[in-house]
Amino acid sequence: MQYSYQFDEELQQEWDWPERYSPQPEILRYARHVADRFDLRRDIQFDTRVQAAHYDDATQAWDVTTDDGKVTRARYFVLAVGCLSSFNKPDIPGLEDFEGNTYFTAQWPHEPVNFTGQDVAVIGTGSTAMQSSPEIAKQAKSLTVCQRTANYSIPAQNRPQDPEYVAYVRKNYPELRAEAKTLYGGLLDDFGEVRAVDTPREEVEAELEQRWKKGGLTFLGGFSDMLYDERANVIAAEFVKAKIRSIVKDPETAELLCPRNIIGGKRLCVDNGFFQIFNLPHVSLMDVGSKPIERITPRGILRGGTEHRFDSIVYATGFDAITGSYLRIDIRGRDGLKLKDHWDAGPRTFLGMTVSGFPNMFMVTGPGSPSVLTNMLPSIELSVEWLTDAIAALRKAGKTTMEATPEAEASWVAHVNEVAQGSLRSKVKSWYNGGNIPGKPSVFMPYIGGLPAYLEKCNEVVAAGYRGFKMTGAPRPVAPPPQNPVTAEEQTT
Ligand code: NAP
Repeated sequence: MQYSYQFDEELQQEWDWPERYSPQPEILRYARHVADRFDLRRDIQFDTRVQAAHYDDATQAWDVTTDDGKVTRARYFVLAVGCLSSFNKPDIPGLEDFEGNTYFTAQWPHEPVNFTGQDVAVIGTGSTAMQSSPEIAKQAKSLTVCQRTANYSIPAQNRPQDPEYVAYVRKNYPELRAEAKTLYGGLLDDFGEVRAVDTPREEVEAELEQRWKKGGLTFLGGFSDMLYDERANVIAAEFVKAKIRSIVKDPETAELLCPRNIIGGKRLCVDNGFFQIFNLPHVSLMDVGSKPIERITPRGILRGGTEHRFDSIVYATGFDAITGSYLRIDIRGRDGLKLKDHWDAGPRTFLGMTVSGFPNMFMVTGPGSPSVLTNMLPSIELSVEWLTDAIAALRKAGKTTMEATPEAEASWVAHVNEVAQGSLRSKVKSWYNGGNIPGKPSVFMPYIGGLPAYLEKCNEVVAAGYRGFKMTGAPRPVAPPPQNPVTAEEQTT
């Protein structure tokens, strides 16, 4: 009920969320409902990939090239490309040679997939692999989970929504939404303010036990120092490892499944019986960390000189997170400055929504905003509200372009880096800091200072008359690009 839109009271009153964690079809049904209810489809062109977007100082507009061959000229260029949508295709030799079925979890087919009677390999043990493996195990003749690095996971404890809770939230939605914005992750739950290192060990463990039973991503939220003090972190890490050892009957497999690094350093996973599947006779763990996959062969996986045959291989290998979707578009700002070059050493933004040298370009939950460290749907709405207010203010001021100054951007980048240093999360290679993609700059990309601090900074900028931005130019209509089939009418925004 919290991971949903709040911009329309009737929408949040009328929608039923039947489970604590909705499955994918339910979320898709909601997205479609929102699109229909607010008549959004007329403004959406589906099945279209943006290839390039170039800013032209002469027209003070963006020329956006799409794969249907059209160029659309726009005054404002808003990127809502997502933090986890650019698929990471692993560089494993022979991947294309496999003659069985290849699936990438990030590009899952829309038609149902059936693994009945098949020998299946899943590559990866991140959230997606942990959530898909138990489902695949229900159908497959055999399932081999290929693990490079063991990962922490907390039971989702998914369940039907309690009607009393639903009634309570519905009755108090506006107050609860407002309260959520005052919390670090924009999510209401019971969070502890005391430090685990100042609390007797039995009490810390009792709290962890209660959170394990409750399930979900706020497992570490009982104490304020879990992600800041290694002494606290190790208590939670040992707690989860003890759980893994108690669930998985084969001690060797259990030991392999026990993570070695900081809990919560990589994003914590939630699962529906992941560790339990290793007690099933047809499920096994392949340690591809100590003995890597040599190559994919036409029939399966070659490792340690042995070929393991499979009917299907599922790659749950994650995303080129946070910056990937921006950099896959050829974005050029003022004087042809390429975003790729500007972000060569890591993303540079002001407030995670704008970039110096890229006038009138706005990002929804971009790098340098709290994004993935918060409840995403409310964060998306906050981004959208801020940038639409900014555009309104620009128009009201009788100006055409708005652009972050290099100084404001530099100071925001320094602040984002500085707050990241204090967290244990910056000590672990993860998709938060580019560590999952070979060659990607090692920079902690989301803003880790929390939603309230972030909102305060965004509001301060507005209150100070958009401090840190240059507003220039007199308003004028956007002229259509030459030989453009898109009409001027269509190009007003
Ligand atoms: P991920 O967390 O990045 O996990 C990718 C997995 O693939 C890791 O285990 C990684 O191993 C492995 N891998 C990558 N390349 C490999 C290679 N060449 N050989 C062997 N293993 C390889 O990606 P994800 O599971 O898709 O999750 C990404 C994020 O999406 C999550 O953290 C979460 O934010 C979101 N998500 C959320 C939910 C949810 O419950 N709401 C569900 C799914 C995903 P290493 O660790 O060794 O790199």
